[in-house]
Amino acid sequence: MKVALVTGAGGFIGSHLVTFLKSKGYRVIGADLKLPEFSVTTADEFKIGDLRSIEFVESLFSIPVDEVYQLAADMGGAGYLFTGENDADVMHNSVLINLNLLNVVTQKKVDKVFYSSSACIYPEYNQMDANNPNCTEGSEYPAAPDSEYGWEKLFSERLYLSYQRNYGLNVKIARFHNIFGPQGTFDGGREKVPAALARKVAMAQDGGEIEIWGDGTQTRSFLYIDDCVEAVFKLMQSDFSGPVNIGSSELISINALAKCFMRISGKQLTLKHVKGPIGVQGRNSDNRLIAEKLNWLPGIPLASGLEQTYQWIAQQVNARAGQTSELANQQKTA
Ligand code: NAD
Repeated sequence: MKVALVTGAGGFIGSHLVTFLKSKGYRVIGADLKLPEFSVTTADEFKIGDLRSIEFVESLFSIPVDEVYQLAADMGGAGYLFTGENDADVMHNSVLINLNLLNVVTQKKVDKVFYSSSACIYPEYNQMDANNPNCTEGSEYPAAPDSEYGWEKLFSERLYLSYQRNYGLNVKIARFHNIFGPQGTFDGGREKVPAALARKVAMAQDGGEIEIWGDGTQTRSFLYIDDCVEAVFKLMQSDFSGPVNIGSSELISINALAKCFMRISGKQLTLKHVKGPIGVQGRNSDNRLIAEKLNWLPGIPLASGLEQTYQWIAQQVNARAGQTSELANQQKTA
């Protein structure tokens, strides 16, 4: 039985990936600062600790590990990454995690290492036109990511590729483009746009309004989580190293995304545009390379992913509202 180590296994993509690898017959070790927030981990072993500590990273290899999937990062949506307030932590923490991991895996006999990079590495100057962004692999230089998060990801890609070049490590690098789905963070400041919009719609009264950061004409594409983990696995099984985009090419504006959630919820809401961090004007996954190298394209249409995500978030929001009113009743009667 092959052994996989998933770092960041308490996070959104990591927790889904653990389940996917289990379904493929792996023995899975998960590691993270925390257990998954919205599900029970399916990992065979889950080690809680800080990957910035080299001792903790070394302790993860007490048994031989065949494959490492590195998803841990200091990470969030636009409200966390694009305000500038968390830049030092984002860069320091994620670089340290990647340095520690690379140092340890080169000493151990690990067959291959997956690194989760991001579409945020692409230069801002190619993403000014909402309807025609260029995110083709190979277009990353001259480098000009619009966030420190993107610079860190680009640096870490180079770090992994240097270890491949100099130490013969077998690395696989994917650039994720907005992965979404159930069991992702939907509040607290680190949520990404689909989860934030679904939460706002779920919380709004019919006939009310929801806030959208910017004028809502900025565009993105969104990949459903099940497609994401399948593509990661295909990349790991292939003899191709990447970097390669893993995303959808179904471009949609943020206003249109909000309207999709309104349609799913059956609510009539007004969009109120307010100032906020919005990132680049347009971003889309160019899927030509992944189609050519891995014979893979997303299989789940955006509409169906949004439906499943909305239903899950609405359930969470309603459950919390129920808990709050029950608490208020208990306090009244106490
Ligand atoms: P996430 O925040 O849900 O998961 C990251 C996990 O890393 C968290 O559980 C966190 O606790 C853990 N972590 C952070 N610092 C740690 C530390 N010092 N020690 C141990 N664990 C630590 O994020 P996600 O959406 O699941 O993303 C997974 C990876 O994919 C990240 O590297 C992210 O940058 C990358 N990525 C994600 C997206 C997306 O749309 N979700 C897009 C591009 C890239």
